[in-house]
Amino acid sequence: VSSRIGVTGLAVMGANLARNIARRGVPIAVHNRTTAKTREFMEAYGSEGEFTAAETTEEFVAALEKPRRIIVMVKAGKPVDAVISELTPLLDEGDIIIDAGNSHFPDTKRRTEECAANGLRFMGIGVSGGEEGALLGPSIMPGGDPSAYAEVEEVLTSIAAVVDGTPCCVHVGPDGAGHYVKMVHNGIEYADIQLIAEAYDLLTHVGGLDAPAIAKIFEEWNTGDLESFLIEITAKVLGKTDERTGGPLVDVIVDQAEQKGTGTWTAVDALGLGVPLTGITEAVFARGLSALRDERRAAAATLAGPVPGEGPDGLVDDIRQALYASKVVAYAQGFAQMRAASLANGWDLDLGAMATIWRGGCIIRAQFLNRIRDAYAEHPDIDNLLMVPYFTEAVANAQDAWRRVVVTATQQGVAIPAFASSLSYYDGYRRERGPANLIQGLRDYFGAHTYLRTDAEGKFHTRWGQDGSEVRTDG
Ligand code: NDP
Repeated sequence: VSSRIGVTGLAVMGANLARNIARRGVPIAVHNRTTAKTREFMEAYGSEGEFTAAETTEEFVAALEKPRRIIVMVKAGKPVDAVISELTPLLDEGDIIIDAGNSHFPDTKRRTEECAANGLRFMGIGVSGGEEGALLGPSIMPGGDPSAYAEVEEVLTSIAAVVDGTPCCVHVGPDGAGHYVKMVHNGIEYADIQLIAEAYDLLTHVGGLDAPAIAKIFEEWNTGDLESFLIEITAKVLGKTDERTGGPLVDVIVDQAEQKGTGTWTAVDALGLGVPLTGITEAVFARGLSALRDERRAAAATLAGPVPGEGPDGLVDDIRQALYASKVVAYAQGFAQMRAASLANGWDLDLGAMATIWRGGCIIRAQFLNRIRDAYAEHPDIDNLLMVPYFTEAVANAQDAWRRVVVTATQQGVAIPAFASSLSYYDGYRRERGPANLIQGLRDYFGAHTYLRTDAEGKFHTRWGQDGSEVRTDG
């Protein structure tokens, strides 16, 4: 018995997480279902730290000090349940199973209860940053029993990314809270990427610019408010020359986006909560539309549209401002969703802390998150980030440009679902009185669903099909 912690699942994420932990001087046991992978791991990295390689689950469990701390980093879904079932009979009361994969939060809630029934403590932790993050410092979003977190806090904070001396790891909340926050993180990543793609599309088809020229623009943007990992790598991807053709690589990449499902989870959950989440949801739909490549090819030859022409003066800077304003909206929506989920699940999420742990290690890391952290520090109970003075002003300053971009794109036939829906959300949110009065009138007409009045208490129904008189329906 010599290892403080164990990792089972030595594919790219588990292997890099294990190496990260070992490099901090923590004795660690490693295990993988296919034992050849464990051997390969030891041959390649065994000298990096104090590893105990286990061929069987029994050996793995026996190598761990108590309470046992086991990080499971296997394929999300059924494999996680399979590993938990295999571990459970070998563990003792109070041992801790930590699922660090991309599990769906309802599964994490269920597994927390199942493990508790067997006397085990379960944690679901979100880990972001891809393989490089896992090795060098990811953003970590741990959910689960606080007593279990206390047992692993030192290791997790030591391997996490650090920004301004603060580790990007904080206990998020109980049961599924960590995986929930990771899910929204991924959803926001979808929105950020979609906004970048729309900016690229406009710069190409309205701006008439080629990929290397657009790469320079993104490089420039990365020195201002938009500074972030995704803007930085956009410049790199656009600037890459293809080895085969000698032209931009991006020009020969098929325009069909894949997805693993976390964006869909985020959108579906928002629908369930009744939270308007247009930015992320449109980003998921846009990937779906991109995947209809054969249909799009047929439609391109059939469906009419304007021929994109020259853009107005100042187009490039207008697009930068539209991107920033739309990004503010996407984050405002994502944080509003986390707030609603926190209330619905009793998680008591500290939203400012979520912004803080996303500042480093993860895919959406950005300067911008400092603004969100500051916003919640000053206004912890704010309903919507758009109402915080910094963001109110930022969007007010950008809105003329944002509207020009949406008009130009619409006139020239360039699809901008995320830019346009974010603007519509903004315009809908800032309306004191919208058109839902008519919706309620229609619902009352066809379904007797009743309506409230602006000038009287109570619920009312009009006898539309009868004498047209109004009755109060709530007594
Ligand atoms: P994969 O998702 O490709 O999973 C492969 C690992 O799962 C292997 O170790 C495999 O073992 C194991 N496995 C699969 N089925 C079972 C089973 N029934 N029983 C036991 N073990 C099983 O690995 P990744 O490293 O890419 O990802 C791990 C987790 O991290 C996933 O949840 C993923 O979504 C998440 N994640 C991944 C990121 C990335 O950039 N790749 C970023 C952030 C999170 P074997 O070798 O025996 O097949």
